[in-house]
Amino acid sequence: STREEELLAQLPTGILINGVWRSAGSGETFAVVDPATGETLAQVADGSAEDGIAALDAADAAADAWAATAPRKRGEILRRAFDLCQEHADDLALLMTMEMGKPLAEARGEVTYGSEFLRWFSEEAVRISGRYGSNPEGTGTTIVSHRPVGPCYLITPWNFPLAMLTRKIGPALAAGCTVVVKPAELTPLTSLFFAGLLLEAGVPAGVVNIVTSTDAAGVSSAIMADPRLRKISFTGSTPVGKKLLKQAADNVLRTSMELGGNAPFLVFDDADLDKAVDGAMLAKFRNIGEACTAANRFFVQKDVADEFSRRLTERVKALGVGRGTEDGVSIGPLINAAAVDKSADLVADATSRGATVLTGGSRIDGPGTFFEPTVLNGITPGTRLLREEIFGPVAAIATFETEQEGVDLANDTEFGLIAYAFTTDLARGHRLIGSLRAGMVGLNAGVVSNAAAPFGGVKSSGLGREGGAEGIHEYLDTIYALLPTT
Ligand code: ADP
Repeated sequence: STREEELLAQLPTGILINGVWRSAGSGETFAVVDPATGETLAQVADGSAEDGIAALDAADAAADAWAATAPRKRGEILRRAFDLCQEHADDLALLMTMEMGKPLAEARGEVTYGSEFLRWFSEEAVRISGRYGSNPEGTGTTIVSHRPVGPCYLITPWNFPLAMLTRKIGPALAAGCTVVVKPAELTPLTSLFFAGLLLEAGVPAGVVNIVTSTDAAGVSSAIMADPRLRKISFTGSTPVGKKLLKQAADNVLRTSMELGGNAPFLVFDDADLDKAVDGAMLAKFRNIGEACTAANRFFVQKDVADEFSRRLTERVKALGVGRGTEDGVSIGPLINAAAVDKSADLVADATSRGATVLTGGSRIDGPGTFFEPTVLNGITPGTRLLREEIFGPVAAIATFETEQEGVDLANDTEFGLIAYAFTTDLARGHRLIGSLRAGMVGLNAGVVSNAAAPFGGVKSSGLGREGGAEGIHEYLDTIYALLPTT
């Protein structure tokens, strides 16, 4: 459509270093593809390790002045960035749908959610406080304060092209840190548009630098080996996160890691089944199932399992599939062919081990990389999707008998990002918060993400928290001083 063409025509497609857009040093570019059509949307600068170091040069040069900028001023710039995101909400949403595939209504929801990190951290910027006290011996005054960690390297994934940026850039800038951002190569357009808004909001040159690249490993290794870097924040897969943690050891970098999930979704026999099904639709099918918080394993107590399966299947059969810009679509394309293969493989594995397909189960012929919204039940132990993140629109249902058995099944994973549980028994709800091994619990809720709350996981799901009062401390060092009273 012309709106899409206009948007692409005005979009920056270079690398942003020290407030200036430029080509990659090599002059190379790469194509960004619409997963719903397979067509190329734009060519974007393909940055190299040298470009990454040039971006770090700029971030390092701007670091002292930004750290010394009044917190109120930093907050006001972030607040202007929030306002600009609201003003350009339609453009941001359309770009996300074009390059990532999510339905337009969900993309609008991401603009609301994602830009909230800018408003939240604009407010947190002026609340970085310390402590003043006396030591237990009574011989000295203790002063605890905070200062920005220094230049940060932020790596973001493709599934939430805006929110994963704002969730890192918001607290980093609020804390007084400068950043180099490497957005996912599958969805760089949203980040380039957003970077333009940051400049318009008054972010000074060098404070935010963006390097798009298909050589994530090369760019990242160079930046992380440079002693001027002080922190890495990464959202992506657990294998890449583990690699980055090893690299971070060399210069003892501060690290924040938002890695994979394998969320259990427990439905107890006392649950409000309508609410449980509503929650399941959100937890499983929002974002086409491509979320680290997506429900990966449904465990339903035996007496209500058939009824839950029936109601969920009815809802899933009604989901519209298509390009996210079309009316009535709630399931867009998966990000690429490999993602479709993965869903297909996991369904084939499940059925070969005894599972039943209640609806869907197959890839959809191209153009575009689509997979049918699917419900499986009768999942048996040993099935691959009990261990692996599906990242697609496939709901897999197994049953349990006692609460203890449900909890044991839920916790039987190396991951621990989020767990969902539906029950009307308040005491059981409280028990579950304690017994489920996850950083977040959705108690009768299918979505928990909120800029005002600490997002993050335990075990192999990661380190650190994004959002809430905790989020800004990922970008602050704690400094303690002792003054003897003599
Ligand atoms: P996903 O499965 O979501 O694509 P990845 O972990 O592969 O997860 O990608 C998330 C982000 O990590 C992307 O920006 C990608 O470019 C980046 N990335 C991938 N491999 C590496 C690597 N070896 N070093 C640094 N970043 C990487």
